[in-house]
Amino acid sequence: MKRILIVEDDGSLREALTAFLKTENFEVVSASDGKEGFRLASQEKMDLIILDLGLPLMGGLDVCKGLRDKRIMTPIIMLTGEKKEEIDKILGLEFGADDYVTKPFGMKELLARVKAVLRRLKPDAIEIEEYSFGDVSVNFKKQTASKGKQELYLTAKEFSLLKFLIIHEGEVVSRNAILNEVWGYDRFPTTRTIDTFVHNLRQKIEDKPSQPAHLITVPWSGYKFQK
Ligand code: CA
Repeated sequence: MKRILIVEDDGSLREALTAFLKTENFEVVSASDGKEGFRLASQEKMDLIILDLGLPLMGGLDVCKGLRDKRIMTPIIMLTGEKKEEIDKILGLEFGADDYVTKPFGMKELLARVKAVLRRLKPDAIEIEEYSFGDVSVNFKKQTASKGKQELYLTAKEFSLLKFLIIHEGEVVSRNAILNEVWGYDRFPTTRTIDTFVHNLRQKIEDKPSQPAHLITVPWSGYKFQK
């Protein structure tokens, strides 16, 4: 079940959204101010955040920017007014929301946005441009990588796999989740394929591939990336 955080100070709207999304089979957590919303979004695993722009204690834009600064890339749908400058700002790189809905809106409209954003939640849709760990630097946009002074040659699938693991840094991801998210349903490799890919990736990025420091095997569960 997907978990949605609603951050909205208008009590009746918050309750209506909560009730509606529950009937649509989402697990809903809510907060009535920006500070509490930020705390929940930072500390608990959410699949999506519905974030009001005007909030007490900490505004919606600050929440959004604060999360992105902490590399928390949970998709965010902002609830906004109709001002164009506001909307441009929200979707801009600095704040990094994924979508917005202008108030007043219908529940069906919001639901359509929620579903669309969750569908897009594939590693390729999440924008991490550059990332470094140990002496490895990766630029996902340019599809280049290096380790120390040496250039690394990763295949497109290796980039996608690495990105997926990085997005879920510190979490155990199952082989099935990797299959679904990185390979999608268009091909049918076995879970063994994943192991082979991880093995190859380790040869490229780890100092000691047989004792990996970053791409960790979690017995019976899957893999975990640690920085
Ligand atoms: Ca408000």
